[in-house]
Amino acid sequence: MKKKTGLFGGTFDPIHRGHVQVAELSLTRAGLDEVWFIPSKQPPHKYGVQASFAHRVAMVERAILDKERMCCSTIEKMYTGPSYTLRTVELFDRQYGKNREPYLIIGADSFLDLESWYTYEKLFEKAHLVVVGRPGVANGAVENKAAEFGFSKREKDTFINKVKKRLICIYEKPENISSTSIRKMLCENKNISEYINSKVVEYISYNNLYVCD
Ligand code: ATP
Repeated sequence: MKKKTGLFGGTFDPIHRGHVQVAELSLTRAGLDEVWFIPSKQPPHKYGVQASFAHRVAMVERAILDKERMCCSTIEKMYTGPSYTLRTVELFDRQYGKNREPYLIIGADSFLDLESWYTYEKLFEKAHLVVVGRPGVANGAVENKAAEFGFSKREKDTFINKVKKRLICIYEKPENISSTSIRKMLCENKNISEYINSKVVEYISYNNLYVCD
C-alpha cells in the first residue's frame, strides 16, 4: 500500500510552532503516514522573503529534529523560476509516486486564497488536500469554498470530488502565530522563545537573521 505523504509547502521565514502543529494535526487527525516540509525556493505570492532558501531549510531541519515522521524536503532546490505547487506535486509524483500518494497540506487562510494560485484546479486532480484551521478563519468559510471547488461532503470532515480526490478538513486550530509577527518581534528585540523551537532561536541569533536596519 502506498504511504500517505503530506506535502507541506511554505515560506517558513522563519518556521514557528504553528507550522509544526499543522504537521502534527495532519498526522493524527488526517491519518497521514508522514509529513514533508517543503520550503518554497521562490514563493510566487510573497514579496520580501528575508532569509535565504538555505537558511530556511536549515531552520526547518532544526525545528523537526526530534519528530519521527517529519522531514524537510529540498525538492524545489533546482527551481529557477517561481515555486509553483503544481510543479512540485508533479515532480513528487514522478520521483516518488510509485510508493507514495500526495496529500497537500494547507492552512485555511491559504485555502481561501487558492484561486490566486497557478492552475489551482489541476491540483484538485493530482493530490488529496488536508486543510488545517487557522485562527481568524471560520470553518464555515472553508466548507463553502470546498463546495465552490466542486467537493461534496462525504463524512463530518471529509469531502470528495469527481476524480475521487479527498479534502480532509481539520477544524482544530493551531496557535495564533505567524512568521510576520515573529519577524516583527525580532526586529523589536522581543523574546520569541515561546513561539519557536530553541534550536531555531539559536540558529537565528548565530546567523544574525531578521535584524532591522
Ligand atoms: P507569513 O506571516 O510570512 O505570511 P506564515 O506564518 O503564514 O507566514 P507560511 O510559511 O507562509 O507561514 O505558511 C505556510 C503554510 O502554513 C500556509 O498554508 C499557512 O496557511 C500555514 N500556517 C502558518 N501558520 C499557521 C498557523 N498558526 N495555523 C494554521 N496554519 C498556519
